[in-house]
Amino acid sequence: MSDGRLIVVSNRLPKGDVPSGGLVFAVHEMLSQTGGLWIGAADPTKTAEDGLTQIGKGVYDRATFALSEDEHRHYYLGYSNSMLWPLFHHRADLLSFDQDDFDGYARVNARVARAIAEVAAPGDTIWIQDYHFLMVAKYLRELGVRNRIGLFLHIPCPNVSDLMALPQGADLPGWLAAHDLVGLQTQRDVSAVSDLLRLDRAIERLPNGGWIRKGHRFAVLSFPIGIDAQGFADTAASAPELPLRMPRDAPLILGVDRLDYSKGLVQRFDGFDTYLARRDAGGPRPTFLQIAPGSREDVAAYQEIRDQLERRAGAINGAHADLDWTPLRYVRRNIDRAILAGLYRRADVALVTPLADGMNLVAKEFVAAQDDEDPGVLILSHFAGAAEQLRAALLVNPFDTSALAEAIDRAIHMPLAERLERHAALRPMVFDQDITWWRDNFLRHLRGHAGFDRAMA
Ligand code: UDP
Repeated sequence: MSDGRLIVVSNRLPKGDVPSGGLVFAVHEMLSQTGGLWIGAADPTKTAEDGLTQIGKGVYDRATFALSEDEHRHYYLGYSNSMLWPLFHHRADLLSFDQDDFDGYARVNARVARAIAEVAAPGDTIWIQDYHFLMVAKYLRELGVRNRIGLFLHIPCPNVSDLMALPQGADLPGWLAAHDLVGLQTQRDVSAVSDLLRLDRAIERLPNGGWIRKGHRFAVLSFPIGIDAQGFADTAASAPELPLRMPRDAPLILGVDRLDYSKGLVQRFDGFDTYLARRDAGGPRPTFLQIAPGSREDVAAYQEIRDQLERRAGAINGAHADLDWTPLRYVRRNIDRAILAGLYRRADVALVTPLADGMNLVAKEFVAAQDDEDPGVLILSHFAGAAEQLRAALLVNPFDTSALAEAIDRAIHMPLAERLERHAALRPMVFDQDITWWRDNFLRHLRGHAGFDRAMA
């Protein structure tokens, strides 16, 4: 067990002194106790030099690595978000490959590795977050760094045929093998990565469930990320009055997603459309409030999904709205967490129906925010990582419009006894396996290299 410092690398650095948001909050809290270093990307500038720039000094250090505007385009918008993101979300049809993108990605990963190698002392633990830095560990090893290195991948893992669409697909197993521990969201991801590792003939499975490549042992295990459940529940219970214009007793159906093609928003709108077309005219008149703040708007696929949704929302209200009823409300502004928490609590139904999603924190936030005596109903896609833990949700296939419509109808009419029973099963998954549990569990395995023992158990 090493007790050196923790060095965390993530694309985004927390802004301000008391950051909010799951991962950022948990890592901040831990570094505040132990000290350490958090490295992230600086705002792009004309040129980029090596090294780290310290920003703000507190109990732990924060530092940025430089990024030129060109590198931002190739490393971030290009390879990370137009190649790896669609590929890992099973959307090879959306790939746009450009050799300069990969070169920029490799260059930035190599720069991050050099910067870490300069500051890491023996005994420090290096924890890399997500798909922006898949090559950092490989470069660190080439620089002779022998420290414990962990990677946590927040997004789903591609299967073998997805990976064949990536020109560097054959190299990915080697990049992963440079870590000591690769943490994934689900067992399904662990199976997918196990298949990918077998593509590299230098990688072998150990009898204890671990892996070995050229004498270096590593482990691949699942650590489903959690949320600050108690904190979120408290925020929800004390949320301010909501400025919602709808009758108090009308059912509220809520969707909260970054506007992304992986979130299944078009299919969700179709499901709601079918529900409206079938609903009994004398029955309840629900409002479906979809919050979907824009993201990555410089990437073409994101502009397309936005246009498509706007058309769909207009058509649905055109077909079903009445003088005193707007069934669908579509809000593209980012909503503040305190208001959001209040909305989750007010909502009778949450629609969390991604086509592919690493975990989906919204599903867990919704559960955490419920009134335990009168809980709402979570409709959850099989394809969200959260579905492995939240089996007691109403699980749906988001591609099946008719089944989605049925699930909405069932959720709106679900008797209190069934809601209570489902909520009682969901609650411990969210409150016990929270963000602190996730963080401690991952670091314990990384530092103790206990992955092999767990894999054997
Ligand atoms: N979120 C927010 N305001 C919004 C929309 C979303 O604060 O208007 C938050 C939401 O509460 C959640 C996060 O953004 O914590 C989205 O995380 P998730 O895992 O669901 O999806 P991701 O965006 O990481 O793909």
